[in-house]
Amino acid sequence: MTTADSPANPRTVVHLHDSVDRLPGVGPERAVLLARLGIRTLEELLLTSPRRYEDRRHFVPIVQLQLGGSAAVSGTVVAAGTVFFRQRTKRVFEIVLDDGTARLHCRWWNLPFMERLFAVGDRVMAFGKCHSLKPRTMDHPETETLEHGEDPTVHLARIVPVYPLTEGLGQRILRSLVWETLERVTHELVEPSLNIVPVRPTDAPDASIAPVMDLTVALAASTIQWPSRAQAIHDLHFPRTPADADLARKRLALDEFIAFQLNIQSRRQILESRAHPIPCGGDNRMIRPFLASLPFRLTESQTQVLRVIRTDLSGDTPMRRLLQGDVGSGKTVVAACAAIMAIESGWRVALMVPTEILAGQHYASFEHWFRPLNLSVALRTGSEQKSPTTEPVLTIGTHALLQVSAEFERLGLVIIDEQHKFGIAQRETLVRKGHYPHLLVMTATPIPRTLGLTLYGDLDVSTLNQFPTGRGTVRTHVRSPEVLPKVWDFVKRELAKGRQAYVVCPRVLESDNDDVKAVTREFERLQGVLVPYHVGLLHGQLPSDQKESVMKEFRSGDIHVLVATSVIEVGVDVPNATLMVIENAEQFGLAQLHQLRGRIGRGGHDGHCILVSSANNEEAQQRLKILAETRDGFEIAEADLRMRGPGELTGRQQSGLPPFRFGDLINDRGMIELARELVKHHLHQGCPKPSRASRKTELS
Ligand code: ADP
Ligand code: MG
Repeated sequence: MTTADSPANPRTVVHLHDSVDRLPGVGPERAVLLARLGIRTLEELLLTSPRRYEDRRHFVPIVQLQLGGSAAVSGTVVAAGTVFFRQRTKRVFEIVLDDGTARLHCRWWNLPFMERLFAVGDRVMAFGKCHSLKPRTMDHPETETLEHGEDPTVHLARIVPVYPLTEGLGQRILRSLVWETLERVTHELVEPSLNIVPVRPTDAPDASIAPVMDLTVALAASTIQWPSRAQAIHDLHFPRTPADADLARKRLALDEFIAFQLNIQSRRQILESRAHPIPCGGDNRMIRPFLASLPFRLTESQTQVLRVIRTDLSGDTPMRRLLQGDVGSGKTVVAACAAIMAIESGWRVALMVPTEILAGQHYASFEHWFRPLNLSVALRTGSEQKSPTTEPVLTIGTHALLQVSAEFERLGLVIIDEQHKFGIAQRETLVRKGHYPHLLVMTATPIPRTLGLTLYGDLDVSTLNQFPTGRGTVRTHVRSPEVLPKVWDFVKRELAKGRQAYVVCPRVLESDNDDVKAVTREFERLQGVLVPYHVGLLHGQLPSDQKESVMKEFRSGDIHVLVATSVIEVGVDVPNATLMVIENAEQFGLAQLHQLRGRIGRGGHDGHCILVSSANNEEAQQRLKILAETRDGFEIAEADLRMRGPGELTGRQQSGLPPFRFGDLINDRGMIELARELVKHHLHQGCPKPSRASRKTELS
């Protein structure tokens, strides 16, 4: 290796994608520490967000420290020492800082290594909360010691970044590395060339539909003075003002949202350019008798959605539509109508659902609906195959459908129920079974709006916003386990009136480690408690035929009480069930509880959902309270998102949602919309310009 090439040589030319050990001062050991923070390349180093910033333009004079307030001070160490307590089991190390206005005691409990870090005479900056004024004291402040001859522009007299660290890697080291790297690679921080990333080699777009997006032009049309990407990365670390840091974060988030939108929207455009029209609008000859055979009339909302679907199905490009509607809003019958339209036009339909129980239930409903029309239905699940004697026009199944291909000749329409239980990849696999068939995905988990824009950015969205009339109301109660005997009495009174009940427990089997209820045990117990009523057991680990017969008996009313795990969460529809008791309710997510509750109140009788929970922590109680107070699935989903974060809610791994470094799915809705808009314009007109509507919301 020549000297000019040596990583230790500060003049070595480095590039954005070089490994960090090309930097002076980064050897193998430090590289390992950096890797622990996810930093392997210079680019990753520059894209590491500070945890917070510290305003060192103005240190607070120690004499002005406020009780309880956080502040940064700077002073000289005038004393340092350790005091022991309780027969030397506890120790506190203390330094005293003097800045000429007053003295401040900085204390660290049981951290003996701190003693090595300070000496009398050192100049030290401390940041922390002042929790006593007599004497002025901070416990466990963050500190930095000023070194002699140090470049004051990096660590002092400015707003400095404070990074997340790992043991063995100091704040100042990381900060200096970022500083140096910024100086050396700034010229490489160009505007992203947001070319479309092909999903598969064959998806490589034609040049004509994928011009490189000129983000500078696009952003110039925006009302906000966006920094360039280079400026944003600089300001992320060393902003002149707090507002600059904020805008930098937003610009980098916008880049992420744009890249993501470009990916999903271009996929859709590729689809539209490749697909041949599949006319599936139908001619009404079957749908008329079908609607006449229903014991109810469609709601206005259902009719409206169907009109839109018919337009989609008759169009030149394949439908890509998400139908969202709260639990019980009547999505299944909409799916049936859409299926019939395609079938009338001579095409086949596939319907995929996430559980065997739901597949069985849909199979029963569709069979019942389609038999009078002389249409045959097939069922395909992992453990069960039901083939009609004539060629099926509709195949219903679970993931197992993904393995079938025989019935997908002339596949015109794919319907996915409870889409949130599947990933984008599975959706795509099924769609590829045919030649770009129409796609209708349905979900009852109202995706919070921000997530919807990202997760379903490539879909058109329709909402069923009306419930069928003639439904009872469902009241939700939160109860502690002590009152369970009363709850069972209440359940028995309702059973006596002819109603049915679900009892949901979090687990299949009991565990020794906690007292979370298990269905197997509760099933045995309740058979005694609820005499003379019949109790059934349902969970995912039962053999299919057993699951099916239990559901059948519950549907027919032979089983009065169904003790189940959350397998019944999706889709199960037994209108006579009006009671739901959920044990250890704190174990479930809010959206999941809302889904479970959606199993009752489907008929004309009032329902009661009883959430049993012994959790006395504040958060758990608050979550259950939200559920008791609102029935609006959107509100619940937004609350869930806020409380649990987006990762958990979507099951990020399977949702195909990339991890955003800067983008905040909870608060960046305005920017997600802006990105979506910019990309749409870019792809459709090559003329990126945000619309008025999205300008207003840009940073809301
Ligand atoms: P979800 O939207 O949760 O999938 P379902 O499709 O299972 O809801 O419908 C819930 C119940 O409402 C079913 O029993 C269904 O037959 C009934 N239903 C659907 N549409 C109507 C309507 N327009 N009027 C009355 N009942 C309806
Ligand atoms: Mg459903």
